[in-house]
Amino acid sequence: MKYDLSNKRCVEKLLHDAGFTFKKSLGQNFLTDPSVCPEMAFAAADADTGVIEIGPGIGVLTVELAEIAKKVIAVELDERLRPILAKTLEDYPNASVIFSDVLKLDLNKLIEDEFKDCKRVTICANLPYYITSPIIMSLLESKLPVESITVMVQKEAAERLCAKIPSRDVGAVTLAAAFYAEGEMLFGVPRDSFTPAPNVDSAVIQFKIRRSAVAEVRDEKLLFRLIRGAFEHRRKILVNSVSASGVVSKEKLTSALTELDIPLTVRAEQLSLEQFAALADKL
Ligand code: SAM
Repeated sequence: MKYDLSNKRCVEKLLHDAGFTFKKSLGQNFLTDPSVCPEMAFAAADADTGVIEIGPGIGVLTVELAEIAKKVIAVELDERLRPILAKTLEDYPNASVIFSDVLKLDLNKLIEDEFKDCKRVTICANLPYYITSPIIMSLLESKLPVESITVMVQKEAAERLCAKIPSRDVGAVTLAAAFYAEGEMLFGVPRDSFTPAPNVDSAVIQFKIRRSAVAEVRDEKLLFRLIRGAFEHRRKILVNSVSASGVVSKEKLTSALTELDIPLTVRAEQLSLEQFAALADKL
């Protein structure tokens, strides 16, 4: 049986029959806007694609992905959703659910084991907002063999992640994400598209994973420590912010900036990714 998972009444009945109550601590805001999931699925998959979904909830995005993709594996933390997902995904043999914390799952192994018969693998999710950045950074840093990551996040997080570099809107996460992927804002989603409605609007963004490095760097870990240190006190000039964070001394930083012809008064938001990489190499 197919359920109308974007229909508020249908969703409420499914949840009520299963005795399910929302857990705010798990970021449980379920989409009930019929236009959003088909559009996300279309952006993330085609008939040759294997998709990993994070946090399927009751399966509203999962079924749209399953309609388009070759195979969908969803990872859900909340075991209480098991009986509901068993019903809503009953007619979709190409979709299955692993009940686990996505941050603890070996996604490289999952891709190797499950998606051998797919031409490409992508990730698509309406992310739980309490762990948006850790999930995105862990997906990017683990260098998964995926083509793209299409996710719904809080609007402010989307703007930060896709900010133009350099600009005032840039944060450490912008540069870290840009190192691995090219981010693009796809469309906005108002707060009343969810049950229950969150206090913020959302947006769908897509990262296309880079095939080759945007900036060559000898020590990636140092680059990211430098970037985090630079944005830790974003009102301070770079030399003061980085040295205050303890990553490297003021003297070393001053001489590296001088060698690279970068003004000593520069702030983190004024540097490009390539300049951060050159600075990390000098250090
Ligand atoms: N995809 C559904 C939708 O669009 O309506 C639900 C999205 S809801 C914003 C986030 C989902 O992520 C919830 O189902 C929640 O239980 C799940 N979740 C929260 N933390 C998780 C984690 N660490 N690993 C996997 N799933 C998680």
